[in-house]
Amino acid sequence: MKPTLSSPPDTLAVLAFGAHPDDIEFGCGGVIAQETLIGRPAHFVVCSRGEAGTHGQPEQRVAEARRAATLLGATIEFVEFDGDSHLEVRAAHAITLAGVLRRVRPGIVLAPSPAENQHPDHSRLGRLVCDAARLACFGGLRELTPSPPHRISHLLFYAVTREAEPDNISPVLIDISRPEIVAAWVAAMEAHSSQTSARNYIEVQLARARLYGLGAAMEYATALFPANPLVFNSLSGLGRGGRGA
Ligand SMILES: [Zn+2]
Repeated sequence: MKPTLSSPPDTLAVLAFGAHPDDIEFGCGGVIAQETLIGRPAHFVVCSRGEAGTHGQPEQRVAEARRAATLLGATIEFVEFDGDSHLEVRAAHAITLAGVLRRVRPGIVLAPSPAENQHPDHSRLGRLVCDAARLACFGGLRELTPSPPHRISHLLFYAVTREAEPDNISPVLIDISRPEIVAAWVAAMEAHSSQTSARNYIEVQLARARLYGLGAAMEYATALFPANPLVFNSLSGLGRGGRGA
């Protein structure tokens, strides 16, 4: 049997999309903290300033998001589409996001679940990112020239709430139990003080992570939902099986 070459280290950035300034932190902030701690670059793209929210002014919410991204070791940019609560699934938006993918050239992309949930912008952005991941590969798309095509390695959905978890995809559980990871995640959520004063959203997220963790012999876990089947080189790369939460 011929020896196989080992793969180059996986150092491509993780790119996370959020419809609102706090979605990424609440949906998958622990996963981001874990990745940046091991040296992977992370970049956030937020598609509104949260201007339709009941609490907090847009300027405050943008500032909170910038602070939270810094706490997680990530960079951040804002993309203006149709405004908070007005996001539409349009080819032009998908092409704009494909342009971001070609510029950042990430390996793993995180996006809100396309399952219908408490905010229509979440599922619509999930669908737009799906389309963008495909469009980023198309070499003849004139709006995206001259930046070269880019194929991401994985699109994984995160769920901001329990209701957003797609019931037709088995989750991948990411172990975020290390105390420094949990602390960074909580700090990033706390940075959104305009949102956390009304309800204890942080406790809700920690409880979800705890429940997933307990179900699979971990302290805390974040459930991510792969858009496509995951491919492994052999059975030995599978990791261990959770018992199911
Ligand atoms: Zn949101």
